[in-house]
Amino acid sequence: MIQEQLRQIYRLLLDSFGPQHWWPGQTRFEIMVGAILTQNTSWSNVAKAIANLNAAGCLEPTALHALDTGELETLIRPAGYFRLKAKRLRNFTQWLFDEYEGNLARLDEIDTHRLREELLGISGIGPETADSILLYALDRPVFVVDAYTARVAVRHGLIEPELTYEMLQDLFASNLEADVSLFNEYHALLVHVGKDFCKPKPRCSTCPLESLPRTVECAGAT
Ligand code: SF4
Repeated sequence: MIQEQLRQIYRLLLDSFGPQHWWPGQTRFEIMVGAILTQNTSWSNVAKAIANLNAAGCLEPTALHALDTGELETLIRPAGYFRLKAKRLRNFTQWLFDEYEGNLARLDEIDTHRLREELLGISGIGPETADSILLYALDRPVFVVDAYTARVAVRHGLIEPELTYEMLQDLFASNLEADVSLFNEYHALLVHVGKDFCKPKPRCSTCPLESLPRTVECAGAT
């Protein structure tokens, strides 16, 4: 039942929006940096920070790790919370150099569970960021969930509102084939529907998921 509902949501969103081509980024390291910078800001702001880092030749581990903190803060300023995010990037590259000599290829030798635990052990890296890095930068079949995912799932009665990140992730991970391409596309589609339709005040009447059963609180919304 849940499996069919999840497949139906995916099909409707994909038919309506088409492939989302996530994650925007030329290299694995750029995707990792983007996943850290995108916390609490729009992607357009992140893109400016990424462009600054790229222009400064700092979108690779050694150069970013060696960058002076003040310079790093200046380059990523457009992404907002730049002091906090500079610290998080520092923590991330410190881990990468302490544990893997700054060599991204060595991450490929580590199993997904251990890697996730290590990422979550880095100060400032939460589950959504860790899972985004695992899925989009490292091609691991890890389903990424966020506030948009929660909103859509709750409003369609797939899960109770009192959910945790792990419960929501498990809803998708245990009912879908563990496929990197599917997980990649599905999360991107949920972000799209969340941003454009499933807002705090939902726009159900024009949403691609309008035909699906919804919870009472949302049933009359337009
Ligand atoms: S806007 Fe309405 S139809 Fe669309 S995902 Fe949200 S609850 Fe469902």
